[in-house]
Amino acid sequence: MSTLKPILRNFLKRLRADYPQFKFQNGHRENWSPHTKTVTFSAKQPERELKFGVLHELAHALLEHKDYTSDLELLKLESEAWHLAAKLGRKYQVKISENHIQNCLDTYRDWLHKRSRCPNCGVHVIQHSPSTYKCFNCGLNWRVSHERFARPYRMTHRWGNKQ
Ligand SMILES: [Zn+2]
Ligand SMILES: [Zn+2]
Repeated sequence: MSTLKPILRNFLKRLRADYPQFKFQNGHRENWSPHTKTVTFSAKQPERELKFGVLHELAHALLEHKDYTSDLELLKLESEAWHLAAKLGRKYQVKISENHIQNCLDTYRDWLHKRSRCPNCGVHVIQHSPSTYKCFNCGLNWRVSHERFARPYRMTHRWGNKQ
């Protein structure tokens, strides 16, 4: 933890004291692991991003998010996590704006939009199972990755049962 600025060390110290049921550890990407009850943050991030990331993952932890069964559900969970993170932020003098939240959720909306588009006829359809979509228009089935998601965005993180 020696690479962290005192202000961040202090922030994490408060979180550890307030949430002794969770572990907070430095790692290479932000993550919440329901399995080990660990919130991972990345010390390489700038101060603001690090704080946002930790609060967001902590929100997943407090909301007991474990897995999702559809892309739409993931979007809902992400929205809940961001809104709780903003609420938690008030206690720690970290201001997460609604604008920032909507920007983050937009990356999920774009992702969902791309995944739900039929590669054959182009219509947008509802997900069929956690890893498949089925087109009501032309009948095509296609698979999508489920366990892993990555976004081309600096707030990128993942969470799941794996770690
Ligand atoms: Zn999240
Ligand atoms: Zn189609």
